[in-house]
Amino acid sequence: MKRVRIIGGGLAGSEAAWQLAQRGIPVVLHEMKPKTFSPAHKTPALGELVCSNSLRSDALTNGVGLLKAELRRLGSLVIAAADATRVPAGGALAVDREAFSAWITQRIEAHPRIEVIREEVVEIPEERPTLIATGPLTSPALSEAIRARTGQDACYFYDAIAPIVEGETIDFSVAFWASRYGKGGDDYVNCPMDRETYVAFVEAVRAGEKVPPHTFEEEKFFHGCMPIEVMAERGLETLAHGPMKPVGLIDPRTGKRPYAVVQLRQDDVAATLFNIVGFQTKLKWGEQKRIFRMIPGLERAEFCRFGSLHRNTFINAPRLLDPWLQLRSDPGIFFAGQITGVEG
Ligand SMILES: Cc1cc2nc3c(=O)[nH]c(=O)nc-3n(C[C@H](O)[C@H](O)[C@H](O)COP(=O)(O)OP(=O)(O)OC[C@H]3O[C@@H](n4cnc5c(N)ncnc54)[C@H](O)[C@@H]3O)c2cc1C
Repeated sequence: MKRVRIIGGGLAGSEAAWQLAQRGIPVVLHEMKPKTFSPAHKTPALGELVCSNSLRSDALTNGVGLLKAELRRLGSLVIAAADATRVPAGGALAVDREAFSAWITQRIEAHPRIEVIREEVVEIPEERPTLIATGPLTSPALSEAIRARTGQDACYFYDAIAPIVEGETIDFSVAFWASRYGKGGDDYVNCPMDRETYVAFVEAVRAGEKVPPHTFEEEKFFHGCMPIEVMAERGLETLAHGPMKPVGLIDPRTGKRPYAVVQLRQDDVAATLFNIVGFQTKLKWGEQKRIFRMIPGLERAEFCRFGSLHRNTFINAPRLLDPWLQLRSDPGIFFAGQITGVEG
């Protein structure tokens, strides 16, 4: 049977390789790590989760939850990995990111019909079918090859990832466990702020030194992943109505609702790491340490990852692809995953 070449061993590429191989089709999977890393990927593992460790809701009462139920029935590798490595997160399906990608890597590498080649692909291969699943951080050489082949400028926008704190450095005499309105148990760590602390924090975020954008690119942000400093610039109260909203939370020390809250969510099964929810940022690393230590409960926080900003690349899928996600102009070249412009 004709083999399929897949470029990119992230979530989409790994899932596609697994589904094809399970149906008896041989696959060659190219992954550039660990020889070459994107600005955000850090481990050699396949299926590495870079941004949030949450795959969002797992309830059958909404679209994203239903999608997961369908994927489970279809034998999805990614959802099986998530189920096997989940961590508490209320009604959401959140995972231990290292265990999650280790689980996927082990299954892909052990599959008799999948050959994994650890090399960056810099040209679109002549072989058909080829599936390009190189994600929002497609390497510059391949991005250029795609642009040259499709004859359109690749689209992009800016996206940011949130910092991760070491759990044992959180002061639990101040921070408290709770979910908003008690939904889904006490899965979040909450750092409460009074108004004075909140105002000082917003002013520090506004004044803090940021990583400057490249001069030749306009900064376009995706709304669901907007950096906190961009929100802080929009108005003093914007953060208190956004990621720092205190609704549904009572501080057990005061018996009252705080003025604002910074929430942290467990990031690994062992509960040693916590990411600051919604705190994507392009503040410089030293500034993140200084400013985030103003948050009550995080005065001595140690950060195992700082927030950062990335350029996301995606193609103009509605124009370039047919309903089977192959290039209209060059059938046999398929695209999958976030490079098609879908949300992860
Ligand atoms: C910048 C960024 C934005 C994100 N935004 C979202 C979001 O909006 N929503 C959400 O739910 N999640 C988001 N995530 C989190 C999650 O990590 C992604 O949704 C998910 O990983 C996308 O899956 P993918 O398979 O399309 O791409 P990826 O998981 O990124 O996989 C692509 C793989 O291709 C490899 N690769 C790239 N170029 C080449 C090449 N030339 N040759 C060989 N290999 C190559 C990379 O090393 C990588 O392993 C984001 C992650 C990042 C880094």
